[in-house]
Amino acid sequence: MDIEKRILELREILERLSYEYYVLDHPSATDQEYDRYMQELTKLEEENPQYMDENSPTQRVGGAVLEGFTKVTHKRMMLSLGNAFHLDDLRAFDERVRAVTADPQYVVELKLDGLAMSLHYHDGRFVQAVTRGDGLVGEDVTSNVKTIKSIPMAIDLMGDVEVRGEVYMPKASFQKLNEQRKEKGEEEFANPRNAAAGSIRQLDSSIAASRGLDAFWYYFMDAQSFGYQTHWEAMAAMDDLHIRTNPNRRLCHTIEEAWEFIQEITAKRNELPYEIDGMVLKLNDLSAQEQVGYTAKTPKWAIAYKFPAEEVETRLLDIVLTV
Ligand code: NAD
Repeated sequence: MDIEKRILELREILERLSYEYYVLDHPSATDQEYDRYMQELTKLEEENPQYMDENSPTQRVGGAVLEGFTKVTHKRMMLSLGNAFHLDDLRAFDERVRAVTADPQYVVELKLDGLAMSLHYHDGRFVQAVTRGDGLVGEDVTSNVKTIKSIPMAIDLMGDVEVRGEVYMPKASFQKLNEQRKEKGEEEFANPRNAAAGSIRQLDSSIAASRGLDAFWYYFMDAQSFGYQTHWEAMAAMDDLHIRTNPNRRLCHTIEEAWEFIQEITAKRNELPYEIDGMVLKLNDLSAQEQVGYTAKTPKWAIAYKFPAEEVETRLLDIVLTV
């Protein structure tokens, strides 16, 4: 096989799938298919560094900035997350972290399947909401995000405060929306994530308001400057500010503990009223996070464990049953 040709082919496929997913909100591949192409490309590039390209999809945060919205440059890049698919990947992540910092603790959280958003407050007042966009520059979607009722318009904290999290469409809202679309003969959304992204990118905010969106927040920017030393404390501080965080989180001292929590959540995943596509492990100590550092695309102090595809398993089961 011509390696260079395959690398170029994979980059082209991934660019196309990203465009369909992030810009059109209309994916033609499953997330697992996309992840498999990405894994193959990552491996080929690692093994053949002469073909490395800084514009490769492995090096860039996926996403785009749509016309029609004011563009906003993020104070600090909004990154993606490295992926893990097996317990061994998590162990390897832990080893990389331990090479930099001793006795790490991890906060294990749900990986919400929505779209990343940044919220800005100034002297206690909500001022702006910005999408991740391409990671460097996002779209100002303040008027749409304001329609999400759980987001406080005032917080009890002075200064410039930025929190980041995920806007999502609850399963019930998604079902209702698709039923309505079907009745009207309109094309249905592929999944709640694409429906949420499509709703947030409406120029008419009354449409976003009618879509039943909600949000969870999982990152307190510059938490140390507000006196917090760990991510766990920063999450509790957001709770105190009435900034909605997801209660399903656990402070784990080992990867085995983290894995146990992952299994617990996997078992009750279908009962959750919103979609999750994995779990995220984050190094708890904020100074240690900075020591461990970042790649151009992801923090090295966190990792996303992705669930295996349920649909694929069901399809396989169907095949077995019909044979
Ligand atoms: P990602 O979804 O793998 O992980 C990063 C994102 O996770 C963050 O930006 C944030 O939005 C989100 N997140 C959710 N819960 C979080 C938490 N508790 N803490 C921190 N972050 C949290 O990476 P990505 O760059 O957003 O997207 C890549 C993924 O998108 C692919 O792996 C694939 O699943 C999907 N995708 C699919 C297609 C397709 O064709 N089906 C195309 C492009 C991308």
